[in-house]
Amino acid sequence: MRFSDFCPPDAQPPDQHELLDSTPVSSVATAVAASSRLGQTRTMRDGGYQRWSQATLGIVGAGLLGSRLTLDAVSSGVGSVRVYDFDTGQAENQATPYVRPGVPKVETLAAACEALRAGVVRGYPIDIRHAGLSHWRQCDVLVDCSDDASLAWPLTETANGTGTPLLRCAVDGSGQWELGRVLCSASRPGSACQLCSYSLEELGRVLERTPCPGAADELAPTIAGGAIASAVAAVALLQAQRLVTGNDLDQVLDREILLDLTHMQMHALRLPRSAECLSGHLEWQPLRAASPGPGMTLRQLFQLAGRMHDDRPVMLCGYQHPLNVQAFCSCGHVAPAAGTDWASPPSCVRCGAATNWLKETQREGVYLHEAEGLGIADRPLGELGFPDDGSLWLVRDQQRLLGRLLLE
Ligand SMILES: [Zn+2]
Ligand SMILES: [Zn+2]
Repeated sequence: MRFSDFCPPDAQPPDQHELLDSTPVSSVATAVAASSRLGQTRTMRDGGYQRWSQATLGIVGAGLLGSRLTLDAVSSGVGSVRVYDFDTGQAENQATPYVRPGVPKVETLAAACEALRAGVVRGYPIDIRHAGLSHWRQCDVLVDCSDDASLAWPLTETANGTGTPLLRCAVDGSGQWELGRVLCSASRPGSACQLCSYSLEELGRVLERTPCPGAADELAPTIAGGAIASAVAAVALLQAQRLVTGNDLDQVLDREILLDLTHMQMHALRLPRSAECLSGHLEWQPLRAASPGPGMTLRQLFQLAGRMHDDRPVMLCGYQHPLNVQAFCSCGHVAPAAGTDWASPPSCVRCGAATNWLKETQREGVYLHEAEGLGIADRPLGELGFPDDGSLWLVRDQQRLLGRLLLE
């Protein structure tokens, strides 16, 4: 086949000599061979392969889409992959590659990838919303393959805040159509984010479906086949490569790619950036503070935040981690207890059964005297269900936001 078979008449064939990376990506002969071949592809031109071979891809979801994308990314020579999924494989997932019943999905996937290229994939059996910003800052691109509509707001806001380009992939899970999409959300270079086209009403509908962490069983199962998943994963891989290499960015930024295999069609929709975007395209400039380690207490955090804000009393709000202050039991007993949704509530003092957080009494944050009243001022942050690594805190004074504090 000829180059002109695939390109518009005015396109120029790539210069083979220009495309070869001048620096070998590895001393291993096979890696050099792969580099010289992949470096000749359009997407990897102009040193693109070298950038790809040093990039870290974050992938949310190790199921139908995420497992395929991870394997292809590893095969294509990406530097490293971090996969996030708190779910455990079930017998019903067996049509998904690399899922074993009773084993965390990320564990099975990482083991399969280890056979391809050792040490490239690391799996984290956690919710991406609880991973902490350190994880985001390690990733050159984050690809959300969780297919969870309720993550639109939290992932987009964090991607905008950290300046991480985000790709959101989905397949039609109704079983009626062979349909999927890959959407690019990247506000930092001045492009559209996923929320640019959202109205408040639409966003409210999406938020209503937010599941509780660990409650994945309550989500409707995705009914979709491997063919559409492979096609969507392939487009996602290409778009991730373009974002990393900087080649053909006009085909990624401000774009949503729709794949309709039912009718064998592909559409590149334009997503215009909106100045009225509900996200505000806010880029965070957090104050950074060194964390003394996982044992840091809420009181120590108050001291730190106070010093950074003229020793005035401040309210601390864990980003995307509201604090529960009561738990209820099926026996009817309600008791004071404190922790975020990522902490387990204590057993019922009346009957000994497991309890649930009473979400109606959840609060965004606390002042120090309130934390003392709840008996949690001297408890480690991790024990209360805040991220151990890279937690972000909003520092407030009454209703005013004084700043953001990032523990590293
Ligand atoms: Zn936007
Ligand atoms: Zn009880």
